[in-house]
Amino acid sequence: MPYPHLLAPLDLGFTTLKNRVLMGSMHTGLEERGDWARVAEYFAARARGGVGLMVTGGMAPNREGAIFPGAAGLFTAQDIANHRLVTDRVHAEGGKIAMQILHAGRYGYGPDCVAPSAIKSPISPFKPRELDEAGIEKQISDMVTAAIRAREAGYDGVEVMGSEGYFINQFLCSATNQRTDRWGGAYENRMRLPVEIVARVREAVGADFIVIYRLSMIDLVPDGQSLDEVTQLAHAIEAAGASILNTGIGWHEARVPTIATSVPRAGWAWVTRKLMGKVGIPLITSNRINTPEMAEELLAGGAADMVSMARPFLADPDFVAKAASARADEIAPCIACNQACLDHTFQGKLSSCLVNPRACHETELRYDPVAVAKTVAVVGAGPAGLMAALVADQRGHKVTLFEADAQIGGQLNMARVIPGKEEFHGLVAWFQTLLARSGIDLRLNTRATPEALRGFDEVIIATGVLPRDPQIDGQDAPHVLRYTDVLRGKAELGARVVVIGAGGIGFDVAEYLVHQGHSPTEDLALWQREWGVGDPGDHPGGLRPEGPQPEAPARKVTLVQRKAGKPGKGLGKTTGWIHRASLAAKGVQMLGGLEYRRITPEGLVVARDGTEELLAADTVVLCTGQEPLRDLADALNGKGDALHVIGGADVAAELDAKRAIDQGARLAARL
Ligand code: NAP
Ligand code: SF4
Repeated sequence: MPYPHLLAPLDLGFTTLKNRVLMGSMHTGLEERGDWARVAEYFAARARGGVGLMVTGGMAPNREGAIFPGAAGLFTAQDIANHRLVTDRVHAEGGKIAMQILHAGRYGYGPDCVAPSAIKSPISPFKPRELDEAGIEKQISDMVTAAIRAREAGYDGVEVMGSEGYFINQFLCSATNQRTDRWGGAYENRMRLPVEIVARVREAVGADFIVIYRLSMIDLVPDGQSLDEVTQLAHAIEAAGASILNTGIGWHEARVPTIATSVPRAGWAWVTRKLMGKVGIPLITSNRINTPEMAEELLAGGAADMVSMARPFLADPDFVAKAASARADEIAPCIACNQACLDHTFQGKLSSCLVNPRACHETELRYDPVAVAKTVAVVGAGPAGLMAALVADQRGHKVTLFEADAQIGGQLNMARVIPGKEEFHGLVAWFQTLLARSGIDLRLNTRATPEALRGFDEVIIATGVLPRDPQIDGQDAPHVLRYTDVLRGKAELGARVVVIGAGGIGFDVAEYLVHQGHSPTEDLALWQREWGVGDPGDHPGGLRPEGPQPEAPARKVTLVQRKAGKPGKGLGKTTGWIHRASLAAKGVQMLGGLEYRRITPEGLVVARDGTEELLAADTVVLCTGQEPLRDLADALNGKGDALHVIGGADVAAELDAKRAIDQGARLAARL
């Protein structure tokens, strides 16, 4: 059997999980939309794919504990009936599902939020109201009620969210809990709340119901818990009746990345391992685990009893089924970009997935087989063209894919050489695997001409983009490079570099230039030093007192833009701060509000508020955006409805792989 540890059942006494894979909790926004058939299909698809146990997104126990006003919870008989649709579908597919009870505390995005002390979080505009004794009792009792209703709704269990800096976690740390009553002060008092909640939930739901407690094993904030305290809490939670302990890593306000793509794979499993052997109930490890190989290695090596993966189940609902049937290389890889999942959540949009636009859209975007197969030409094997070709092929069309280059991937090949974006290798490899197993006629090194495209029923142009010509005086000098030359490793680079253009690519190129040849993402000890992460056994909260200790940059980099303000405002909501902090730690100067006057052998001459100055540089790199490459589309203009232009060839502005893949998939789903 492949992955013998991962696919081994887990006996909890009163019930058995069919394998060691947990689909971790994610807020997708589905529940708030009220389309319960859609919610049910989302979870049913993942149950069908074989995951051992799933956890829902966080459900509010009451109004004051909601993550935002109107967040979903089990408040009425109708809510219970809606959730029953989900649990029935999951059970019909042979799955198991637990409901997460999430009390946001001071992270609640609304004026009604409550907390142990009236201390505002640095990431929220709302100051919480300090709870009195009766208020605390109400929160506990509402959480117990939520667990009872979860059972009524047919759930197999609940997860009590005790980590990530939410309400319970706020009681545990002295920085957020400054109470002097029996809920504050000594650690025994601060941990009273989670122990009381778990004990009363267990008492209310009976012995044959899964109770997971999500334990903050490393807070990553000043004055966080020590390992001794976390261990003491773990023992007490076990004694209070929890069935499983899940790992939580870092508060949301922590200034250390915990799940982004630049975090080393399985880079936090060592924290869970510290508790192994110290408690009698199963331990789950989590964060940045995205392949069955990695999960198997962790379990075989004794890091945990079970592995939690969340976003990988957006990327591929069939993760477990594919692993179990020796098709692991067909698993759509979660590249940990956050672009279509968490970034959407923070923008109030429904989650999806960059590599799987069907995630959370299962009922609306379908790849149904076609009644009549057409001949389809796709020009360009970048993300848009690849996805269009694969979906068209899957549906039964006869697809020919033309690519002028010697390899597939298009702009993905640029992304994958950036330190911290190594996951893009896996994405290109996945496309390669699927292409090889498809019926697609792939023609590399072939520039499609209008003549070659004659005779196809449908023609899809996905020819991508060209770097924009910024027309700066002096840009033709030999020390001025396009980002494409830099990332293809073709160019000589000086010790001082000015990067013109601070969009996604400018930031990526700056990362490449400061780290060149050595990616912290592939070296856990180095990555931990760069972000100041230490052992919670030595440093409470897991933060080293000396702070981040970045290595010296490979060269001096200046990143500039014309827009006023600090570069990087347009980057992803949940990852932009990481890019900005990482470059700042490498001494990258980031300047906005510049006018470019000319490039000279000495560097870039700019004007700031009308005054000229020289930004000295040996090399200048142009990252000034893209223009659509659509000569072929223009030449084919007469083809009418059978001609489709997608990806960067359609609109280059704000293009990213998410939009390209989504557009390719949606077009091919309609052909
Ligand atoms: P971009 O985000 O549109 O940024 C282009 C940059 O060039 C801007 O900083 C712009 O700033 C500057 N610029 C535009 N026209 C110019 C001109 N005529 N002369 C001088 N400067 C000019 O494009 P990109 O950086 O090439 O990225 C392309 C896409 O790839 C992005 O939309 C992004 O979403 C995606 N991408 C995303 C990531 C990610 O981490 N999510 C990473 C890489 C790429 P000013 O106009 O202020 O000078
Ligand atoms: Fe993973 Fe990115 Fe998809 Fe989110 S959008 S699930 S991070 S690949």
